[in-house]
Amino acid sequence: MSDRQQALRALPSVDSVLADPQVEALAKNWGISCVTSAARAAIETARAAILKGDAPTQWDWPAQIVKLICSDQEPTMRHVVNLSGVVSHTNLGRARLAEEAVVAAASAGASNVNLEYSLKSGGRGERDSLVEELVMRLTGAEAATVVNNNAAAVLLALNTLSFGKRTIVSRGELIEIGGSFRLPEIMEKSGCHLAEVGTTNRTHLADYEKAIDPDTALALRAHTSNFKVVGFTTKPKLSDLAALCHERGIPLMDDLGSGALIDLAQLGLPSEPTVADTIAQGADVVTFSGDKLLGGPQAGLIVGRREYIDRIRKNPLKRALRPDKMILAALEATLRLYLCPEVAIQHIPTLRHLSRPVAQVRDMAERAAAIARGYFKEEAEVTIIDDICRAGSGALPEVDIPSVSVAIRHAKMSPNQLAAWFRERKTPVIGRVERDLFRLDMRTMDDPDRELDTGGWRD
Ligand SMILES: *Cc1c(COP(=O)(O)O)cnc(C)c1O
Repeated sequence: MSDRQQALRALPSVDSVLADPQVEALAKNWGISCVTSAARAAIETARAAILKGDAPTQWDWPAQIVKLICSDQEPTMRHVVNLSGVVSHTNLGRARLAEEAVVAAASAGASNVNLEYSLKSGGRGERDSLVEELVMRLTGAEAATVVNNNAAAVLLALNTLSFGKRTIVSRGELIEIGGSFRLPEIMEKSGCHLAEVGTTNRTHLADYEKAIDPDTALALRAHTSNFKVVGFTTKPKLSDLAALCHERGIPLMDDLGSGALIDLAQLGLPSEPTVADTIAQGADVVTFSGDKLLGGPQAGLIVGRREYIDRIRKNPLKRALRPDKMILAALEATLRLYLCPEVAIQHIPTLRHLSRPVAQVRDMAERAAAIARGYFKEEAEVTIIDDICRAGSGALPEVDIPSVSVAIRHAKMSPNQLAAWFRERKTPVIGRVERDLFRLDMRTMDDPDRELDTGGWRD
């Protein structure tokens, strides 16, 4: 008999592995089904290794079983450190929640809550009522409703207000965002007919005026997000467009995208139209995201005149797009912070990061650079450089936000290899390579000791 055959014969049965006292102890923890599957898989792996000829002589079955169970419990969604130079990075989950919002979401997840339940009457309540008043206070709107994200908000509003009818929109605003949100496609799916007016760079009030016919149900304005039309451009003032729409008896909807609740000039950034400005200028329905500049959870907010919000809320599609209790809890907690704007700016990470003075960013860079130098020693050259970062997720298009990066040149790794090395840490660190230099942008860094040191550089 060959060694290989002997080794195969020596493999234990599943039952005999399960009879090992250490494995019995594991079964107490994990349950017998899970441990049995792991034992079977471990024996199968051993059999395959013997057949390939690279099996060890001894098998530690309890250790193999623990390894298999632990790898099954390893989450796919990992905490990463975003030092990419994009503050609100869609691919990295956009906003980090304020501590208050984290606590609220976790607590709602773990408990039953008055989600659609009136504590006064003991009868059915309205999910929107949990945040509606707050949103009204913060935006000056008459009413508000919340859905899964802003794409859902646009879809639902168009479907409610313009199904089978014409919606007029400027050619300069027929945008695509991040490849998956194309305004013309959402419009088509909502069942409204797109009536394009004006040209890519110039659309006049008269263009809208000419396009409004008896079949027109809505005029739509859309923030051009990550796209900017510059040079010889015109678009009517929102208040003029609103006046025209109201004279002709159709509502005006504005898809704001980011939807700032406070004037960004307060953060030392260029102004963006706030939701309150947009309502004040006469928009009847305004849609915006919860997780862009607002800095809350993924959500789509629809605010505006009560008659339209009531119709939107009654649309059966709303049921398919509603947010869950954890999202609403996080959104409510985030919005409550905005009642004290100075606190909001400090506690909501998106606002804190965007508004942080460069001197503070540099201080983070110095601390992070010291950690990097201590780690790489002679293997890398670590420098602190002035850099530029972006707000991300379509907010503040083309606005260069001054920042400071830690730049690392490694003796043995190319910039891209170094970027990959950082992504492979236990807590992946996401930097970027620009002009052949690997950088870690410090605008989004809160605590280098915690985020980098325990971020797995040393394991
Ligand atoms: C980001 C954006 C959307 C999509 O919002 P999501 O929350 O990502 O669904 C729609 N319209 C505009 C103008 C945007 O900027």
